[in-house]
Amino acid sequence: MMKVQMVNDILCRLRSVLPNTDTQIVLHEPDFDGSECVFIKECLDRRWVSSVGGFVERFEADLALYTGVKHVIATVNGTAALHICLLVAGVEPGDEVLVPALTFVATANAVSYCGGIPHLVDCSEETLGMDPTKLESYLQDVAEIRPDGCWNRMSGRRVKALVPIHTFGHPVDLDPLAELCRRYKLQLIEDAAEALGSFYKGRHTGNWGKLSALSFNGNKIVTTGGGGAILTNDDELARMARHLTTVAKLPHPWKFVHDQIGYNYRMPNLNAALGIAQLQRLPDLLRLKRELASAYHKAFDGAQGYRCFKEPPFARSNYWLNALILDESFADCFDELLERTNREGIMTRPFWTPLHQLEMYKHCPRMDLSVAESLAVRTVNLPSSSFLGGYHGEGQDLCGHR
Ligand SMILES: *Cc1c(COP(=O)(O)O)cnc(C)c1O
Repeated sequence: MMKVQMVNDILCRLRSVLPNTDTQIVLHEPDFDGSECVFIKECLDRRWVSSVGGFVERFEADLALYTGVKHVIATVNGTAALHICLLVAGVEPGDEVLVPALTFVATANAVSYCGGIPHLVDCSEETLGMDPTKLESYLQDVAEIRPDGCWNRMSGRRVKALVPIHTFGHPVDLDPLAELCRRYKLQLIEDAAEALGSFYKGRHTGNWGKLSALSFNGNKIVTTGGGGAILTNDDELARMARHLTTVAKLPHPWKFVHDQIGYNYRMPNLNAALGIAQLQRLPDLLRLKRELASAYHKAFDGAQGYRCFKEPPFARSNYWLNALILDESFADCFDELLERTNREGIMTRPFWTPLHQLEMYKHCPRMDLSVAESLAVRTVNLPSSSFLGGYHGEGQDLCGHR
């Protein structure tokens, strides 16, 4: 198949799923139905916009109920949540933390905020997240288990934690990763920023790590404008996380006593009010997301030279972002595909730049990253707003495929 033909074929199939409109179809729009106004108005009426008022606690309780995790601490954003997860897990300056090479830069930045060094792990085609098999053989080569933890034989530094992400909301293969963490004395911290509503083997993501982070940024499945959360089942770690996010202030009716350098990382009430309303709609949003994903899967059925990413068999994904992955032999269509779709009003985006190709992370320790490098130049995200799932195409056969 020729390059032009292939891109035409993809565009045609995309149009059969998406609304026929003159305005640009963006990658991901937040979904509001007006129910948010009730909670936000109550915030304003009661002057509960910041740290006073009950919405943060209620949002945390709602999240704990939904995810099944015992403690939830709402934060200003997902990056702040990750930062605190790492600090509380004991990441110290000079420690290495294993992170996937293909992730949003915040995962590595949070490690850097602790003075740690991201150590880059390759991805699997099956999950788009960390490849546990490849990681296992790599650790056999470079890691040494000592009584005080895991050490990198090459760098002489301690390896403290492993931070997998659930790429585009699709759960990574957590069981083998958790097993590696046990064997190598690594703290498992899930970057579940994209995975609210995603389940691994029937249990919510973020419920496998010692600590986990969620994000409620404007582009995530549920938004609070900006926001995040720390999840943990450990009472002591939860207490430490709550303390650190509230400037480490000791409880007292009027005195300002702080017992360490804390952070002003708590989510304001105004944002939590939006979150409560959004969370009530999560089941609907998830249904729409899965409808959109199956419409894409149907439209791209039988396609040659590329595939539409499907959740792995052990997962129930929130399908936060849909993705097309070109076969390696068609990777030369990548730029053309991004160029044409964006020019024609269908917003698409490439995968993130692998971390070692960014200036500040180019010297990070890393294993062979050939899969991450390859996926980065042939994976395209498709418009994935939940409302698109309620639209079922024009039903017409635009390309002669259905
Ligand atoms: C969104 C995101 C974050 C950071 O969340 P913010 O709320 O934007 O700070 C971290 N990791 C991943 C994988 C993300 O997608």
